[in-house]
Amino acid sequence: MADPIVDLRSDTVTRPSEGMRRAMAAAEVGDDVFGDDPTVNRLQEKAAEIFGFEASLFFPTGTQSNLAALMSHCQRGDEVLVGMEAHTYRYEAGGGAVLGSIQPQAIVNRPDGTLDLAEVEAAIKPDDPHFAKTRLLALENTITGRVIPRRYFDEALALATRRGLATHLDGARIFNAAVKLGMPVKELCRGFDSVSSCLSKGLGTPAGTMLLGSRAFIAHAKRARKILGGVMRQAGILAAAGLYALEHNVERLAEDHANAERLAAGLGVAPPASNMVFAPSVPGLVEHLAAHGAVVLPAPRLRLVTHLDVDAAGIDRTIAAFQSFQPWRAAMARPASARAQKAAPA
Ligand SMILES: *Cc1c(COP(=O)(O)O)cnc(C)c1O
Repeated sequence: MADPIVDLRSDTVTRPSEGMRRAMAAAEVGDDVFGDDPTVNRLQEKAAEIFGFEASLFFPTGTQSNLAALMSHCQRGDEVLVGMEAHTYRYEAGGGAVLGSIQPQAIVNRPDGTLDLAEVEAAIKPDDPHFAKTRLLALENTITGRVIPRRYFDEALALATRRGLATHLDGARIFNAAVKLGMPVKELCRGFDSVSSCLSKGLGTPAGTMLLGSRAFIAHAKRARKILGGVMRQAGILAAAGLYALEHNVERLAEDHANAERLAAGLGVAPPASNMVFAPSVPGLVEHLAAHGAVVLPAPRLRLVTHLDVDAAGIDRTIAAFQSFQPWRAAMARPASARAQKAAPA
């Protein structure tokens, strides 16, 4: 039998395992619009407990969960302070502005993924009719694979409290951060007014994201979810996958981190902070990798993401595929500074 394809495009490409499919098939369901789906209700209670919040709400996607959070924190004409590299700002089609009439004030992320808190504070607008009302600080963890430590959140949350800002954490991959830091997710999320966390990334479900917050916040978010068309009917089929993932697929994220380290070492690139490895590309490399069974997204700087459908043997085959492409080996033999110059547009 041919070796399976190693798909490193994202940790969203996983397919539900046999066990997860069995849990989905056996799920007790009802109409969630009426609050009748026992499996959705169980997932929402379980998530609230794991994250240490009063309440939670099941969403089809992280994009919608983040948007509903923004719409619940902010009124029309309010402003959110957010990183230039944040998913909420950069990769969600401007939803906060389009559908929430919320102005984003983007702040450059530092190389470690954090925002300079002096810059955050300087971006808060005075109470003056010229300005939008700065209402929310939105952070992300992990951000492009980088793990933000708890200490930073303590400082950021203290600033938000001092200046009367609400806080949202896009924790699409918060379990990767928690496992990496060896810290309960509850501890990492403590103090935020809301957290959004994907079940369909490293946790391996086909769909679903949890939004966490106070009971009052979740009541607002429920209305926003309705406006956005995100209430599903017998969603227990998907919620069952979420419950299964929370039980079986959290601790094992350490394997993805170990595989990412193995990959980085084999390629001779910087060690990963969690499950993402970055490597320079050269013309023809992506096609060469595909011909050798490794699928990656084309980019000048490749992002290689490990997940539960990639094992150590797949990593070793990927390393061999890279190393068998002579132009890439040649590029890697040059100093990094020379490579950067070569990649820059003429
Ligand atoms: C994937 C992702 C989202 C959005 O999730 P979707 O379910 O794809 O809409 C939000 N934030 C971050 C950081 C993500 O990686």
